[in-house]
Amino acid sequence: MSFIVLAVKSVWQYYDPSSDVLRLLDLFRRMVNDSLRIGIAYSASSLRKLSLLTYNQLAQYDSPSYYKLCAISRAAGILAARKKSVRRGFTTKTPYAVRQQLVSCYGFKLESGGLRIPVSRGRRFRIPLTKHVLEVISQPGVKVRSFTLTRNRLGFCIARDAPLVQCNSTVGVDRNLRNLTVGNDQGTSYYDLSKCVRIAKTTVRIVASFTRDDARLRTGLASRYGQRRTDRTGHIIHNATKTIVAVAVQRREAIVLENIEGIRCLYRRGNGQNREYRGRMNSWSFGEVQRQIEYKARWVGLPIIRLSRRETRGSSVTCPRCGERLQSDKRLKRKLWCSSCRIVMDRDMVAPVNLARRGRVRFARSRPPIIEAQGRAVQAVKGNPTPTAVPGVDAPKLTQPNKELTEPSRKFA
Ligand SMILES: [Zn+2]
Repeated sequence: MSFIVLAVKSVWQYYDPSSDVLRLLDLFRRMVNDSLRIGIAYSASSLRKLSLLTYNQLAQYDSPSYYKLCAISRAAGILAARKKSVRRGFTTKTPYAVRQQLVSCYGFKLESGGLRIPVSRGRRFRIPLTKHVLEVISQPGVKVRSFTLTRNRLGFCIARDAPLVQCNSTVGVDRNLRNLTVGNDQGTSYYDLSKCVRIAKTTVRIVASFTRDDARLRTGLASRYGQRRTDRTGHIIHNATKTIVAVAVQRREAIVLENIEGIRCLYRRGNGQNREYRGRMNSWSFGEVQRQIEYKARWVGLPIIRLSRRETRGSSVTCPRCGERLQSDKRLKRKLWCSSCRIVMDRDMVAPVNLARRGRVRFARSRPPIIEAQGRAVQAVKGNPTPTAVPGVDAPKLTQPNKELTEPSRKFA
């Protein structure tokens, strides 16, 4: 029996808009804002209710009718998010769409290396696609579900049914400040990300060097350099996560990650850490690493196991062979010592091995893997949580690792 996972991701490129397209983008934004206004006035946030109230009101706009539906749907999304915030007690502003962004799943045609979309009644616009985008969307089994236009970018949401990779082992991924360590009993490897830390430091220094008393200029500068930092670190993390997933697929190992929800609370004011340390830990994009690994794994059908905080407790100070607490010693710099096995291990390498082992306990219990059905409509874009391929079964009680099973790894000897 084989399992199929629906995997979704996005691909984008730049394009040159025509005046027709710019007009359409502005029209779309105004339709969204009209729907928002009506939605707030009648306190409607469900798509059904909002469409009934709004659709006729949008008659004045000269736009293909499916863009009207998409505008209503976008407004419904914004209103639903707002409702959630209100329920949780956050202060909210009156929602208003400022950015020009058109999302539509209707009306577009892909033909001979281009995308053709209607811009108004009887008028169409064609965007030539880049080689990269064409390559990605013409892979076997890939379906284009929707497109997104901004003033200079065109994005596609694409989906594919990925056959689930049958795994017979697991591999743990541990995030440190300057590196990612990946491994299991068979061996560990190391991905240097210290460049990301350096880039973050430079950005902070540049923004801080602006001393003029002008908040507007400062904000502009900070956002420009912040964007640059995001682009540069994103690229470095992309290369590392791509390799991690490719190697895991090749070895048929499910990836085990620590669930890092709420990690921001670890480094907050009043936690007894200094300001610089907090800044360093908070600027390091834990979430981005996890997001990239998860959507890339999902795209190829590789199972992901997310361990809860409780399950990962002590994973960096526990001996993977006997479960004893490891000792540190000033003479052994980044090394740890197990007094019962009488061996020395590398501090960074202990955690992934423990994660892999704990994930395997979970993996063995949940076999055959059940695929989450709700994962179907989720888009792999920033901000959306990627669902796990192997759902959370009850947190297993970790027993002491079995001596027979734990062969000493050569790395540690
Ligand atoms: Zn030990």
